[in-house]
Amino acid sequence: MSEAVVAQSGLGESEPGLDRAACVEQTLAQGFPLLFFPRSLEADFQLDCQPRRLSLITEAGVASVLLYAGMLLADWLLTPDTLWLALFLRMAVFAPVILVGLLLIRSWRRPAVSEWLIAFAGMLAVVLTSLILLSAQGKWGYARLVEFNIIVVYTCTLARFWPALALGVFALVVHTALAVTLVDFTGVLGINVSLLAFVVLCFTLYGNYTLERDERMAYLMAQREAALQDALQASHEQLARLATTDSLTEVANRRSADTFLAQSWAHAQARGLPMALVMIDIDHFKRYNDHYGHPAGDRCLQAVAAALSACSRRAGDLVARIGGEEFLLIMTDVEPRTALSVAQRVRDAVQALAVPHAGSTCSDVVTVSVGVATLLPGEADQRAKLMRVADEALYAAKASGRNRVFAVHPDGQVQGLDGDLDLDLDLDCHPPRNREGA
Ligand code: GH3
Ligand code: MG
Ligand code: MG
Repeated sequence: MSEAVVAQSGLGESEPGLDRAACVEQTLAQGFPLLFFPRSLEADFQLDCQPRRLSLITEAGVASVLLYAGMLLADWLLTPDTLWLALFLRMAVFAPVILVGLLLIRSWRRPAVSEWLIAFAGMLAVVLTSLILLSAQGKWGYARLVEFNIIVVYTCTLARFWPALALGVFALVVHTALAVTLVDFTGVLGINVSLLAFVVLCFTLYGNYTLERDERMAYLMAQREAALQDALQASHEQLARLATTDSLTEVANRRSADTFLAQSWAHAQARGLPMALVMIDIDHFKRYNDHYGHPAGDRCLQAVAAALSACSRRAGDLVARIGGEEFLLIMTDVEPRTALSVAQRVRDAVQALAVPHAGSTCSDVVTVSVGVATLLPGEADQRAKLMRVADEALYAAKASGRNRVFAVHPDGQVQGLDGDLDLDLDLDCHPPRNREGA
């Protein structure tokens, strides 16, 4: 059944690559007169509706058992000769079948099966009621055909359209068969009950169809809304990323570094934590560009940025490209000794990339000079001072021959580290270098 409906809907299986949002838009544009979406969307619709449908089916199923048992009153008042048969069929057949069916529906959790079981429950009620009416001897048996309407309305209100249509047609056929089989003592009831059954069925199915169509439309609109929200969120994130990221190297840009530094400064100031800035500049990069070309220079910048990022993985760290071939590493809650150790790691990591640099005077591979400044944040204007001091340390490293790490400690002491020095040395005892370089 569903295969045929899918084919008729004109949509069929969603095309590969057609994403969910496009599928929703296509379904909205083409409509869904047969109350069926393309397969994957239909499966999601059924799954999303399942929790609500399951509790509705359970409640309505239990209520149907009570209602069907309650109709014993009609058996007793109108056709008392059928009371024992009715008692058996209503209590010993219908009630257990429905309750077991509910248990199966809840344990299988197959939406399509659940929907069709609703129609089968209605059909069972129709068949059992027919048996009661067929056994009735009194003159009111024929009039009781109107009870079919209760079964049809109750089941169709709950069921999805296609199962409801199947039940409705089944009930109408059985109704017609009984209308010509049972004896109408009044001679006038036949046409009335048949007309009533037909009209009730038409109105009920129409109501059922529009309800399901509206429910499906609301689902598509909610999907469209969710897709728009996702797209909006994604473009917000992309804009935020573009505004804060350097497009070439993918590390933070200067604006982002300024913001991060201000925030880190406030955080460190409030908690009395030391801060460190590590300023990094590629040595003789102009010559690198001149020798290997600008595109190679770009690749070199990317490799250096990646190496820097790999050296600073703490949550409180940020690597940023703050100029053409200049980078900044911001660290919070680091002692001067640790900052110096990280700076040395940065220098080593870039050298370890072993990117050939024929134009360099300090090495045959690409190297960096590094300036480190550490400070316990105090006044706000000290933030600019920290940048200046890191810059001075970098300048000292350049002046001392490049491929070096120089640090300026809070007490103003300038300290240089040769690339070959062992970091386990007691740094405080290391003799300060001349700011003008070696
Ligand atoms: P020093 O060792 O003193 O730092 O010398 P340097 O050549 O590295 O410094 P300088 O400031 O003279 O030159 C920086 C060069 O960086 C100049 C410019 O061509 C290059 N540069 C800046 N931005 C980019 C970029 O985005 N891509 C490439 N490939 N090169 C860039
Ligand atoms: Mg520079
Ligand atoms: Mg440079």
